[in-house]
Amino acid sequence: MNTMHTPFLLRAGACAVLGLASGGALALDPLSYANTDQVRTRALHLDLTADFTKKTLAGHAELTLDWLDKSARRLDLDTRELSIAKIEATDARGRWVPVRYTLGKFDPEKGQALRIALANQAAKVRIAYRTAPTASALQWLSPAQTLSGKRPFMFSQSETINARSWVPVQDTPSVRFTYTARIQAPSGLRVVMSADNDPQATGKGGWRFNMPQPIPSYLLAIGIGELEARTLGGRTGVYAEPGRIAAAAHEFADTEKMVAAAESLYGPYRWGRYDMLVLPPSFPIGGMENPRLTFLTPTMIAGDRSLVDLIAHELAHSWSGNLVTNASWKHWWLNEGFTTYVTTRILEVLYGEDVALMNLQLEQEEAIASLADIPQAKQALLTRDPDTGSDKYTDEGLAYPKGAWFLRTLEERAGRAVFDAFLRGWFDRHAFQSVTTGQFVAYLRSELLARHPEVMSDAELDEWLYGAGIPASAKHAQSARLVALDATTAAWLKGTRPTAQLDTKAWTALEWMKFLNDIDGKAGKARLDELDAAFGLAKSGNDEVAFRFHRAAVHAGYRDVRPQLENFLMRVGRQKFVVPLYAALRAQLEDRAWADKVYKQARERYHPETQASVDKALAN
Ligand SMILES: [Zn+2]
Repeated sequence: MNTMHTPFLLRAGACAVLGLASGGALALDPLSYANTDQVRTRALHLDLTADFTKKTLAGHAELTLDWLDKSARRLDLDTRELSIAKIEATDARGRWVPVRYTLGKFDPEKGQALRIALANQAAKVRIAYRTAPTASALQWLSPAQTLSGKRPFMFSQSETINARSWVPVQDTPSVRFTYTARIQAPSGLRVVMSADNDPQATGKGGWRFNMPQPIPSYLLAIGIGELEARTLGGRTGVYAEPGRIAAAAHEFADTEKMVAAAESLYGPYRWGRYDMLVLPPSFPIGGMENPRLTFLTPTMIAGDRSLVDLIAHELAHSWSGNLVTNASWKHWWLNEGFTTYVTTRILEVLYGEDVALMNLQLEQEEAIASLADIPQAKQALLTRDPDTGSDKYTDEGLAYPKGAWFLRTLEERAGRAVFDAFLRGWFDRHAFQSVTTGQFVAYLRSELLARHPEVMSDAELDEWLYGAGIPASAKHAQSARLVALDATTAAWLKGTRPTAQLDTKAWTALEWMKFLNDIDGKAGKARLDELDAAFGLAKSGNDEVAFRFHRAAVHAGYRDVRPQLENFLMRVGRQKFVVPLYAALRAQLEDRAWADKVYKQARERYHPETQASVDKALAN
C-alpha cells in the first residue's frame, strides 16, 4: 500500500536531524533543538509508571552520552509539554549530582528545548519528569473505546517528531541509541514496546524491556492494554485485545513466510523477533514499523487476508527505514519510497507476479490522480533548498509511490540481477546508519551507473529527484487482469453489461478497488444502488473496498447507504479513509449538515491527529 501507513505528522512537529551533507559535513536537523554536533546519545534507560487516571507517564529517563566536541559542556534535548522535576548528571568520579537546566520558549512545531548545563562531560544524565495528558504521541483510551469495553488502553505514535512528548531525547533520526525500560502499569494490563517482548512476562515488579539494536527516537514505542499474545511462527507473533486475537492470528498466518520472502531478497532480518500489535480502531494510520513490534490498525483485518500488503510494507521497513534510516525528514522518500518498492517485491514472491502488478498499477494510478491536489513545489522527492524546516518537504503521501516508481525504473532498465545486488548492497553497507539522498546518489553513481551508464542520464535522474509530477519517460505498470477489467467497467458504465452479468467471483480486492476508482464520479445513484444490492459493498469487510464505494456514493449523491457510511465513520479512525470522506461530504451542499452531525459523535473516537485533519477538511 502507499501513503497510508505512516503519515508525515509534521504539523505536530517533525524530526530533528543531523543530516550528512553531500560533502560529509554535519548539518543540524532543523526540526530538533539537539546539539548533535557536540554530543550524541548512545543508550537510553526509561523507568516509568503509567497512570490511566491522570493520563500520564512519570518517572525518569537516563541518557548515556558520547561527547564529540571536547570543549562542549551543554546537552540540549527536545521536549514537548514535559514537566521536569529534577536533572542529575554523573561527575568525573561517577557520582550523581544535581545540575541546572532551563526550558526554552515553546514552538508549536518543535516544542521546547531542554538546555542542561554541565560542569563536566557527563557520561550519564538522568531526568525526572512527567508527561502531559495531552502528550502528542500518546493516546489514552477509555474502556468504552476498546473492544471489550472493560479496560483502558494507551498507545504511542512517535513518528515523526513526537517522541519528545513522552521522552526527553535528541529527537532526530540522525541519532541512534539502544534502550532498556522498566514500565509499571495497573494489574490486568500488559505492556509491550518496540523491544524484546516476552509473551511469558507477568509484569511483576514492572515490565522489563531491552532493545539491543540502536534505533532513532521515532521508533520508540509503547502500548498498554488488555492484550493477549499468540504465536504465528518461530519468530513471529501477534498481540491483540482478547476479542480480536483469533481473527488477527488467522489474518496474519503468512507473516513467517513474508519474513522469509524479504530475507530471500535483501538478506537476514536483523531484529530478532517480528511481532505485531493490533490496536483499537482509533489508531490514526494503517501501520507503524516499530522495530520488533509493528503497530497495526484493526481495519486491516478483512477476514480474507486481502489487506496483508500492509504487513509486507511494515516488514519491509525492517530494511528500508529502520535499518537504513533517512537522516532528516527532508529525505523521507528514502524511508517510504524504498519501502513501497520493497513491498511490491515481497508481494510478488508470496502471491505471484499478477497480484504484484495489479498492486503496482493501482498504486501508480492513484499517485497520478493525487497530483491534482498537491502543489508543484511539494511534488519533488527532494528540494534543492537548504534544509531549514518542513514547509518545503515532499508531500507526505506522494513520496511513497513516486520513490518506488523511480526505483522500479532503475530496476527495469538495469535488470533484476544487477539491481537486486545493488539494493542489497545499499542496505548492507548502510545498516544501522542514517543516510541522505546525496549519499544514495553517490552510491547509485559508483555502484550502478558507472558500469551501466545507459540506465539513466544525469538529466533524467535530476528530473526524478527534483522535478514535479512523474517524468514523461516513466513506464506505467500494466496488469493484464486490470486491462481486461477495463472493458468490463466501460461496458457496465455504458449499460451494455448489466450489473447482474458482472462476473465478480474471481475478483480480488484489488480488482474491486480499481473498478470503484474508475466508476467514481461516473456512476449515478441508480447504478450504485444496483451494485450495493448485488454485492453489499457499503458494508464490505474490506475497508479499502468499502471506502471506495462510499466515496463514489457521496459523489453520486446516493444517500440510501448513509447508515452504513455513518457506521464506517464511527468505526474507522484511519485518516486515509475518514479525511477524504468528510471532504467529499463537505463538497456536497446536501450532505454538509449530516456530515457535521456524524462527526460530532465520531470525533472523540478519533486520534488527535485525525481530529485535526478532519477539522480542517470540514472547515474548508
Ligand atoms: Zn511506511
